[in-house]
Amino acid sequence: FSSTELTRHLLDRIQQLDSGFNSFITVTEERALTQAKAADQRLAGGEAPALCGIPIAHKDIICTSGVRTSCASKMLDNFVPPYDATIVEKLNAAGAVTLGKTNMDEFAMGSSSESSYYGPVKNPWNTSCVPGGSSGGSAAAVAALLVPGSTATDTGGSIRQPAALTNTTGLKPTYGRVSRWGIVAYASSLDQAGPIARTAEDAAYLLSAMAGYDPRDSTSLNRPQSDFGKGLNNALTGLKIGIPTEYFGEGLNPRTAACIQEALREYERLGAQLLDISLPHSKLAIPAYYVIAPAEASANLSRFDGVRYGYRCQTPEDLRDLYRRSRGEGFGEEVQRRILVGTYALSAGYYDAYYNKAQQVRRLIKQDFASAFEQVDVIMGPTTPAPAFKLGAKSADPVAMYLEDIYTIATNLAGLPGMSIPCGLVDNLPVGLQIIGNYLDEARMLNIAHRYQ
Ligand code: GLN
Repeated sequence: FSSTELTRHLLDRIQQLDSGFNSFITVTEERALTQAKAADQRLAGGEAPALCGIPIAHKDIICTSGVRTSCASKMLDNFVPPYDATIVEKLNAAGAVTLGKTNMDEFAMGSSSESSYYGPVKNPWNTSCVPGGSSGGSAAAVAALLVPGSTATDTGGSIRQPAALTNTTGLKPTYGRVSRWGIVAYASSLDQAGPIARTAEDAAYLLSAMAGYDPRDSTSLNRPQSDFGKGLNNALTGLKIGIPTEYFGEGLNPRTAACIQEALREYERLGAQLLDISLPHSKLAIPAYYVIAPAEASANLSRFDGVRYGYRCQTPEDLRDLYRRSRGEGFGEEVQRRILVGTYALSAGYYDAYYNKAQQVRRLIKQDFASAFEQVDVIMGPTTPAPAFKLGAKSADPVAMYLEDIYTIATNLAGLPGMSIPCGLVDNLPVGLQIIGNYLDEARMLNIAHRYQ
């Protein structure tokens, strides 16, 4: 079948089914059909790029030229970027067809996709449950077979946690592997974009198109272009898998733990060796993250002032009133909480006690991983402490929500790549196995994931 037929089919599915999931904020039907038609012409011509004609969707934090990029916020409800993010340019060049923009937690702050200005995303496995967040729309759209793959971002788990809760495969690359240019910044030293797909193989094709050096992102790594689709079938004989004791302690749902143990046994059958390791500073990851991420967010979000772009309040009395009310009315509750926490942590007199202390902890966490990778090739554990929770269950309790990311946040603080793959069901709700790799070891992680799938 042609890309046009496939695109038409998926657009119909979105129209029929997505009112039940709310995974899309914007569907770009006309643009998708134009891209599909162009792809079909290229395919007929023989010389087609890797993803030619393959439909995808972008998280609505990723700028798309001429298409609203809202960050699921009232603040950017009217924002239409005049340019594409680097990863959008790259995926377009690889021939991908964009179906639309996916729903998320406002400004990527959250773990449930409930804080969206456009209403919560529902988990296709059970629509009374959350799909995880912040990239819940990107994950739910793949899980519901509305699109075969999507882009997402992960600052503290936002690719891996929703992938785990929706039975999809999500990969957060090494910090610097994928350009952040044109992606609305949340916490710049932690943000990284990556793919969500059904399988590691699909994720490999998407990552190959997304990754690469970009002079427009000063933290972009200048490494040779990789083809992540190669080596997926390599044998795992002799692979050393580290199992951190800290990831199997109190707070982990026993049935989630059982799924993870079963997956680890499968890896032993595939020839791998399991080794107990320790990441002693694990419990400090959440407190450090919830100082660093809000601190960076408070600085990044200062650009939304009601003057340059985004929401502006009605009839301001003076400039101060314009700032205050535009931000007060434009940002939701969680975003305001983060801005306040971050501003406080960066204030004179508190900077050393909070921000500097958090940066010191960050260094210790990085060292924990460095020592672990002297003994093992890869680290495995659960992605989340438990399967998907009910909508509303954690909305009133920010700390309970923050604990969702207890196993994912440390990798962002260290800049390491992390991945979540499906590894079983508990009461018909998916469980994710997390694979944490050493720097730039995505190809091996994808190989490890592919052999299991
Ligand atoms: N849940 C975490 C937060 O709210 C991580 C979100 C993310 O990775 N974007 O900050």
